[in-house]
Amino acid sequence: MHCLTHRLLCAAHKNNELELQMATGKRVIVVGAGPTGLITALGLARQGAQVTIIDREQEILRWPRAMVYLSSTLKVLDELGLLEAAQKIAAWGYEYHLHFAMTGNVGRLDFRDVEDLTPYAYNLHFGQDLLAEIVLEEFLKLPGTELLWDVVFDTVLENDEQVLVSVLTAEGPRTLEADWLIGADGARSSVRKELNIEFEGFTWNEIFMATNVVYDFDKHGYAPSTMLANGANWAVIAKIDNNHQWRIAYAEAGELTEEERIARIPERIKQFLPDPKQSYELLMANSYRVHQRSASRYRQGRVFLAGDAAHATNPIGGLGFTSGIQDANMLIKCLGGVINGDYDEDALDWYAYERRRCFLEIANPTAIEFKRRTQETNPVKRKEDEDNFVALMNDREMRRQAMTSIFNLSGRDYRVDWKEVYLHADEAGTSPTLGAHGGVVLSNERS
Ligand SMILES: Cc1cc2nc3c(=O)[nH]c(=O)nc-3n(C[C@H](O)[C@H](O)[C@H](O)COP(=O)(O)OP(=O)(O)OC[C@H]3O[C@@H](n4cnc5c(N)ncnc54)[C@H](O)[C@@H]3O)c2cc1C
Repeated sequence: MHCLTHRLLCAAHKNNELELQMATGKRVIVVGAGPTGLITALGLARQGAQVTIIDREQEILRWPRAMVYLSSTLKVLDELGLLEAAQKIAAWGYEYHLHFAMTGNVGRLDFRDVEDLTPYAYNLHFGQDLLAEIVLEEFLKLPGTELLWDVVFDTVLENDEQVLVSVLTAEGPRTLEADWLIGADGARSSVRKELNIEFEGFTWNEIFMATNVVYDFDKHGYAPSTMLANGANWAVIAKIDNNHQWRIAYAEAGELTEEERIARIPERIKQFLPDPKQSYELLMANSYRVHQRSASRYRQGRVFLAGDAAHATNPIGGLGFTSGIQDANMLIKCLGGVINGDYDEDALDWYAYERRRCFLEIANPTAIEFKRRTQETNPVKRKEDEDNFVALMNDREMRRQAMTSIFNLSGRDYRVDWKEVYLHADEAGTSPTLGAHGGVVLSNERS
């Protein structure tokens, strides 16, 4: 071999070795290019991790899903430097309305009431497919990052040092090696199933319908986030963009067939329009089952669950999507800290503990209560809900507490003595950082 060529090859080999050494402990595979997986991937890559995202789809999913970004989510986007881009494409929302159909009254909250408490005193509205575009643009600029579409997670083997992830690709099966695996692959998570982790809880009987329509709700004074509390004819009506695109979400009986549900869409949508004579355009519709479920553990060795893979809730109040973003945020901090040598692996147990607690103690009961309130049929309880909401509107402190309580979903920061300081207090029910019932204060709650 020519001497120079030999020297160059040796140098290349040494560089590869060096790169490999540098990469040791920093290679992360994220299964799922949904909002949770993408945000986690970006945050870890920003800290020097070598991140590969795989997703079974061919490209970003465009069908209707979450589109309201609550204050706690805006804070995470801001910390990742994504807020400005999000603000540019979003519709802004400052108000939340709750229509009490029984009396015709409307309960109102204005987030500008808490402008002195948080810089995120508003909501942004845009589809999660657009969030994916914003995140990916930043993620793919970073060294050592890749996104593999059309690649399906199959199995994982792990030892003390790494994970071996088998995937199915169009060219056949492949094995990817990494140090850590994150299952952000949605409520039907194959990662969770592969690890035999229970998805504890229950599935609601009814089927939720997510429809995207073009209709001028603004003209009728609707707030960007509106709920109709009306028994079986409940709905969530939320703005998607500034071009009159809105989401109308409602439920159908589980006994109906998909054809029957689709056939009923026009008659159901008309029920929710303030002026049914004013025409609307149906852009998309999707039906889906909703659950209240949590994985029994969010970490198993070198594998983590995050987002819907870890927990599932009904979407009334938007707490599922919002929780997934908070999982991502904490995983970025805890796993990023371990990768960079700032934390011991104990921080990973904190991630698993605290995120599960936030779901079970905050998101889950709050979302169940949001659902009850919008669907309540008992007139006595409906009257009570309305009275509570009016009382809340008239009490400045209570109102402000309700509007900032979403930040409870972020959880507590890691500290090395969490077992002594938090765990024991949580178990004894005396944790100073939990509210009276640990939860997000519902807009109509007085407790
Ligand atoms: C129709 C519908 C409407 C909704 N509306 C709302 C709403 O109005 N408000 C709200 O807050 N929430 C809503 N949600 C819930 C919200 O969309 C989810 O909470 C959110 O998408 C969770 O994000 P995620 O990243 O955890 O999971 P997902 O968004 O589900 O992403 C999981 C990703 O993993 C990929 N994947 C799955 N299995 C594999 C595999 N084996 N290998 C490789 N890739 C895989 C999938 O292709 C997908 O891209 C809605 C959900 C649905 C289905």
